[in-house]
Amino acid sequence: MYASNLETPLAYLKGVGPKRAELLHKELGCFTCEQLLHYYPFRYIDRTRFYKIAELNPDMPLVQIIGKVMSREIVGEKQKRRIVVRFQDDTGIMELVWFQGLKWVEDNIFTGNYYIAFGKPTFFNGSFSISHPDLETYPRKNTGITGNITLQPIYHSTEKLKKNFLDSKGIQKLQQQVVEQFAREVRETLPQHILDKYKLISKKDALIHIHFPADAKWLQQAERRLKFEELFFIQLQLLHNKHLRSLKFKGALFSNVGTRVNRFYSEIIPFDLTNAQKRVVKEIRLDTQRGAQMNRLVQGDVGSGKTVVALMSMLLANDNGCQACMMAPTEILARQHYESLVGMLKGELVNVAILTGSTTKKQRTVLHQQLESGEIDILVGTHALIEDKVRFKNLGLVVIDEQHRFGVEQRAKLWRKNVVPPHILVMTATPIPRTLAMTLYGDLDVSVIDELPAGRKPIQTLHFVESRRMRMFGMMKEEIAKGRQVYIVYPLIKESEKLDLLHLEAGIEQLSYQFPRPQYQISIVHGKLSNADKQFEMQQFIDGKTQIMVATTVIEVGVNVPNASVMVIENAERFGLSQLHQLRGRVGRGAEQSFCILMSKDKLNPTSKKRIETMVRTNNGFEISEIDLELRGPGDITGTMQSGTVELKVADLAKDQVILQEARNTVIELLDKDPNVQLPENILLRNYLAKKHTGISFDKIS
Ligand code: ADP
Ligand code: MG
Repeated sequence: MYASNLETPLAYLKGVGPKRAELLHKELGCFTCEQLLHYYPFRYIDRTRFYKIAELNPDMPLVQIIGKVMSREIVGEKQKRRIVVRFQDDTGIMELVWFQGLKWVEDNIFTGNYYIAFGKPTFFNGSFSISHPDLETYPRKNTGITGNITLQPIYHSTEKLKKNFLDSKGIQKLQQQVVEQFAREVRETLPQHILDKYKLISKKDALIHIHFPADAKWLQQAERRLKFEELFFIQLQLLHNKHLRSLKFKGALFSNVGTRVNRFYSEIIPFDLTNAQKRVVKEIRLDTQRGAQMNRLVQGDVGSGKTVVALMSMLLANDNGCQACMMAPTEILARQHYESLVGMLKGELVNVAILTGSTTKKQRTVLHQQLESGEIDILVGTHALIEDKVRFKNLGLVVIDEQHRFGVEQRAKLWRKNVVPPHILVMTATPIPRTLAMTLYGDLDVSVIDELPAGRKPIQTLHFVESRRMRMFGMMKEEIAKGRQVYIVYPLIKESEKLDLLHLEAGIEQLSYQFPRPQYQISIVHGKLSNADKQFEMQQFIDGKTQIMVATTVIEVGVNVPNASVMVIENAERFGLSQLHQLRGRVGRGAEQSFCILMSKDKLNPTSKKRIETMVRTNNGFEISEIDLELRGPGDITGTMQSGTVELKVADLAKDQVILQEARNTVIELLDKDPNVQLPENILLRNYLAKKHTGISFDKIS
């Protein structure tokens, strides 16, 4: 029935059977031959390199040796029964040993013949041996597509698979069958004009050579083709969605710069905008008067002044008869945004309200009613804003702060909040590498605030080991004596929560000894506190009633206390790079010199060392994000990406920037020429898009 069809279940392959088929399904998610064909090796062993017996040393990994079988004998009894083959080349002699499969050896390995032996050499009793080597006749016979293996594919396997003879080698054997029998049926997925332009090999060849590369060059071509394809389709989906949205969603027109924006800008704002802020405000203005829905990402380093940009955009919405809302990932942040907006507005111009998890039912009832009547102009809050119960009279703009915690789904939910979907402004204080931004937010337009307000002194970052703790306390005292405030942050990581809490407690004890009351007051904030207690402790610090704030990472994002001038990070080696940068951004918000002190143990692993060195060397968030991507590697990135519902199999955003840019440009050019993907030459892409679920439902667009 499945005589030759990529969809043949693996159970039909020679040597698989129902049990192993089920395992392959469970462990690797592969049910059909086609799925297995898309299960790629993660590395290759160079089988073109041959060693001489005299060159061997016991530290070598897998090696291959050409030699002649001098003798073959069965030795030992029962469990110890084994075949020992004496194997010789022109530099020496060694042993090949089999404890199992003796019959196969007797039937296939003959004295006087030449073979290639492949395996891990060990040194024992004065000579080298390899047990259970792979043995091929020499010279190699060319046997079809998967014949001469020059680069041997290595596949990830699992314990369960290994127990059932499906280790890397076992999987390789299955792949050999699949490639031999089915590869010729693989259909092309990219249009010919793209293959031509970028000199990409066919999908069929790419799949053959990703498993069984004829040589290093073929492997490189196969990888390039598969990476291009992977990135291309992500870009196609993103940019095509963007195009559809622009056709379907018109967006409110903010054509009028009215009294609120004007009065705020000319009378109320306490400082001049930086050029970067002005540019971004202008980009937002242009975007919102085109009659299309805006989806814009504003990237700006910590302290670059994103809040005021958000405020001006919201005032613009208000000036045009619309409401606006601003959403933050945590209650503390929402509250701080609320207060900073109210503060900046000096209680004038518009009505600002806040809605979070701790808003009481009674308050909610009033709030809901005021939102629907249009009495509230700007609503600040947490996820509570997305709830269906929350209805606006006319929501024109949604600002999302710290976007990485909101997924595509949640964004889509916001689009449905109004008859005319609101404009969306996403703000991130964590600069993300260009490649990641393009992949996660490739459907958004991007603005960058790449300038800090004038007069800021760059934060000085110092790295102290334990022996300099007293110096650290000294610096804290000096700063507090000048009237400034200090943060001390402890790591709190779920797995080691108990131990971390102990550290935190010990740290607090030492601090209370070094900084006794009543001269010094300390706020303590950690995850175990109730929201109200957290709020209270934070407020004490914000109001300057305490000089020291000891916290676990809850203060990570957004807290704004310009009077704080020292950030001490305990066990800095345990924080990620972008987290360290975020924390550091809590200081340096006023005009005075600020410090970040990274405390760590003496001995650091290379990654922690590089993280800390980077922090000491630079304050540039974009540079830091690139290094972070490199250090974390593709695995972690995939983790990050899951929230964005994108998963990469072959491409690596840290390394494949060029291919990504090519893929994106290709899509841009293509959609330029064929916006609705209708031309016959793009039929493959049209079919692909038709199959894909976009997450947003669009009416048919003709
Ligand atoms: P972030 O981009 O990290 O959200 P904020 O919006 O919280 O930064 O701004 C950080 C601080 O800088 C705030 O105290 C804000 O009032 C101040 N600020 C913003 N823009 C300017 C400016 N152009 N000149 C001076 N201070 C500014
Ligand atoms: Mg902010």
